[in-house]
Amino acid sequence: MNDATLIVGGGLGGLTAALALARQGRAVRVLEGAPSFGAIGYGIQFGPNVFHALDRIGVSEAVLAKADAPPACLMLDALTGEEVTRVPTGASLRVRFKHPYIIIHRVDLHEALLAACRSDPLVALEPDAMVARFTDHGDHVTVATEDGREFRGDLVIGADGIRSRTRAQLFADGDPRPNGYMGFRTIVPIGDVPGGVQRDSVALWAGPGFHMVHYPLRHGTLFNLVAVFRRSANFERGDVTAYRAELEHAYRNAHPTIKALLSMLDLQRRQAVGDRDAIRHWHKGRVVLLGDAAHPTLQSLAQGACMAIEDGVCLADCIAAADGDHQAAFRRYENARVVRTARVTLESRYIWDVYHAEGISREVYWQMLRERSEADTFQCLAWLYDGFSLPAKTEKIGA
Ligand SMILES: Cc1cc2nc3c(=O)[nH]c(=O)nc-3n(C[C@H](O)[C@H](O)[C@H](O)COP(=O)(O)OP(=O)(O)OC[C@H]3O[C@@H](n4cnc5c(N)ncnc54)[C@H](O)[C@@H]3O)c2cc1C
Repeated sequence: MNDATLIVGGGLGGLTAALALARQGRAVRVLEGAPSFGAIGYGIQFGPNVFHALDRIGVSEAVLAKADAPPACLMLDALTGEEVTRVPTGASLRVRFKHPYIIIHRVDLHEALLAACRSDPLVALEPDAMVARFTDHGDHVTVATEDGREFRGDLVIGADGIRSRTRAQLFADGDPRPNGYMGFRTIVPIGDVPGGVQRDSVALWAGPGFHMVHYPLRHGTLFNLVAVFRRSANFERGDVTAYRAELEHAYRNAHPTIKALLSMLDLQRRQAVGDRDAIRHWHKGRVVLLGDAAHPTLQSLAQGACMAIEDGVCLADCIAAADGDHQAAFRRYENARVVRTARVTLESRYIWDVYHAEGISREVYWQMLRERSEADTFQCLAWLYDGFSLPAKTEKIGA
């Protein structure tokens, strides 16, 4: 019997790769470090590009059943409350890009992928399997878990997120690059949200050194709230009282609507924001990376998970088409993905700077954004939202 392909990490990228490989007739084993497969429960936005990949693994319908399509993504001035610009994400976007823009609870998204994995006999799911290291034996690979188990496979796909151990062992290229911002995320019942707050669309409040994003989830029953701000050197102590003081300081000039929403934040868990500079190669020997392990990005374009999902489908296609020549498959996968994902990283950094700009640069950016028509906006997003060309299914790769 052939060895299964080992996937380290059962996040969105890992599960997508598992399904995509299984759909190509390959056995896979997903090793997830958490005690059970599942997501940390916050909202996520998906651009229309992700549906090219979700269609390929047959989960679009299950995802859409749980999702909502907001009419717009609004960018609001976090000091004055004025609308700076809006990206229409309703009917006109769907017509232009042939797929919707959606907002969905991560738990629902994960569940759709997991249900598909569970019903595919070629996918084995191993929860509570925290991978400590891999060994490349030349003709096969093994991975060892922290609790002393060993799994054998033909290839290792490192889908273990921004703090990937697989990447650390492959390249030893240090930690991700923190950008000095911290974030809090919360979901509350929509009935708890104060009056006057936008509840249908995605709202992004952009302020000097801080922003806030909110949108509805689960067909308007829940409300997802994210607050991100530049960390202050004076606030190091890590308890809720200190976090509250730090937030109040960071948002001291914010619009009253934002201040009202801040009081709803769960301050138990603070998350540092960061990314990495792009690298050209994501593989060595029989081991390859995808998603945040390969190219973590800031969340400002809301595309990190979309990229992980696109990677998963692309990698599976390249492996299936390569007739066992995994080096050719990995090279082809990198060629297909490196520039697109690096562009997401770079544009996300640029947009991050726009959101948080101060003084005259803020006025310049606002003027530029206000001048944009819907057609301009769609044109700017076309490289991303039109999707990318997956290598043809039947195309063979030369040596
Ligand atoms: C605030 C915020 C908002 C965001 N919003 C969006 C958005 O709207 N749209 C979007 O597309 N993206 C968004 N992203 C980015 C997105 O969350 C990530 O890009 C995406 O989750 C990456 O998927 P992944 O599968 O590569 O990694 P992860 O989702 O990080 O999954 C990695 C998995 O590997 C497991 N793991 C880790 N180490 C090991 C190990 N050693 N052994 C076994 N298992 C291991 C983890 O438990 C986890 O399950 C956002 C990110 C943040 C922080």
